[in-house]
Amino acid sequence: MASEALMDFDAALELFEPVIGFEVHVELSTQTKMFSNAPNPAAMDEAGIEPNTCITPLCLGLPGSLPVVNGTAVEYSISLGLALGCEIAPVSRFARKNYFYPDLAKNYQISQYDEPIAFEGSVSVELDDGSLVDVPIERAHMEEDAGKLTHVGGATGRIQGAEYSLVDYNRAGVPLVEIVTKPIEGMEHRAGELGRAYVSTIRDMVRSLGISHARMERGNLRCDANVSLRPRGASAYGTRTETKNVNSFRSIERAVRYEIQRQAHILNSGGSITQETRHWHEDTGVTSRGRPKSDADDYRYFPEPDLLPVEASAQLVESLRAGLPEQPVELRRRLRADWGFPDVDFQAIVNAGLLGEIQDTIALGVAAAAARKWWMGELSRMANDRGVEPGSLVGPGDVHALQKLIDEGRLTDTLAREVLGAMVAGEGSPEQIVSERGLEVVSDDGALLAAIDEALASQPDVLGKIREGKTQAAGAIIGAVMKAMRGQADAAKVQALVIERANQSN
Ligand code: ADP
Ligand code: MG
Repeated sequence: MASEALMDFDAALELFEPVIGFEVHVELSTQTKMFSNAPNPAAMDEAGIEPNTCITPLCLGLPGSLPVVNGTAVEYSISLGLALGCEIAPVSRFARKNYFYPDLAKNYQISQYDEPIAFEGSVSVELDDGSLVDVPIERAHMEEDAGKLTHVGGATGRIQGAEYSLVDYNRAGVPLVEIVTKPIEGMEHRAGELGRAYVSTIRDMVRSLGISHARMERGNLRCDANVSLRPRGASAYGTRTETKNVNSFRSIERAVRYEIQRQAHILNSGGSITQETRHWHEDTGVTSRGRPKSDADDYRYFPEPDLLPVEASAQLVESLRAGLPEQPVELRRRLRADWGFPDVDFQAIVNAGLLGEIQDTIALGVAAAAARKWWMGELSRMANDRGVEPGSLVGPGDVHALQKLIDEGRLTDTLAREVLGAMVAGEGSPEQIVSERGLEVVSDDGALLAAIDEALASQPDVLGKIREGKTQAAGAIIGAVMKAMRGQADAAKVQALVIERANQSN
């Protein structure tokens, strides 16, 4: 994608003030879809579900099919609205948003328009330096997702140059909440950072509410970033662009920064900004023109005639409020203090989205350092290789079962990594794998001592050095013993025993 001329970031901020706003779509993980009993792929663990298998006549817009509201989706939406500090409308209404696109078989999307379920809220977001920013929320409304088109034959998977397109309606009708912020002023050079921190806060929020898997790379959580500039001293907002579906936290920050630099160059050269959507290109780090978008886009919204208004009783709202978890900022601060990791390590866990997994693993009794090591180390690496999230490989219970074997001295770290690989490959529980593969650490001290004595006897020069107190020399003996034991010995124990034996066998 050809890049456009950019102004230096600092120079852009001297001339202009950025105003930003975010639209975040959250796919709810209810068992079934928003308006039908089709299974909801956003609730499923496996990636790559066969196309057009999670569908009912409603998802295909077949004549005679009628929507029924998913009560759990409404409850999830109310909980999310409350967590966003919003007011909950006692009565809200679904509306039809009319437009044609092949991924929308009904020719209209059921959404909410002027009567959203939640409105006027605020979310506390923590920036990298620990400072807090309150992000004002305009509304959070319920709607359904559209299907997915795959354009085949073009170079980039885009519609331009494609020979044909395939349509998959699995996603059609997946329950969504769209959260819309008010325009946010005053963030200056931290506008992009706020976007990243805000969306990661929303992710933590919906995960701790248990209402969405919020896997950005799978589209469970999607962010559109609106950016405009106004000359310093001006009060009216400038014209905004809307960069669509930026699918990682880091990209949100980069996309905002890019738009600030691009728009500044145009404005400073006497040009004007077109109100339009833009596409983010992850590989090149640029945005490109999407479609023009006026505020007067006419979707001919009207109240959905097939659905009754949604009534949220005060009793329901209060019971959901009583069940709300800690706010993400409070949770982070508490965990940061409890775990005592260096800030960079803690931030890496937050960025990786593994707070919940590590928290649950520790709650089962695993030491904080060990929980962090498994999730941020081996599991993150394996997940990365497979293009999935660590949490889809194993659960906190599995990590606990594995670490227990280490703590009991039955597995060394090296053996445990092998067991973990087998667990991920579906070979069973750690106990089963250990017994089937015969991996257990040799706990028979007799065999261990025999191997140590043999190694010491075959390397008398090393033995001499150890006796002189040069304990580093023991490395050669430990290596030989570990080899003799085929790795199935605890290295720390071997080291202690080698030194003990060397000094005894005078
Ligand atoms: P749309 O129909 O374009 O999706 P929404 O109301 O859903 O409109 O979202 C618009 C988003 O853009 C909101 O987050 C809003 O705060 C933000 N926004 C509105 N005007 C501006 C502006 N001039 N500059 C930056 N952001 C803006
Ligand atoms: Mg919108």
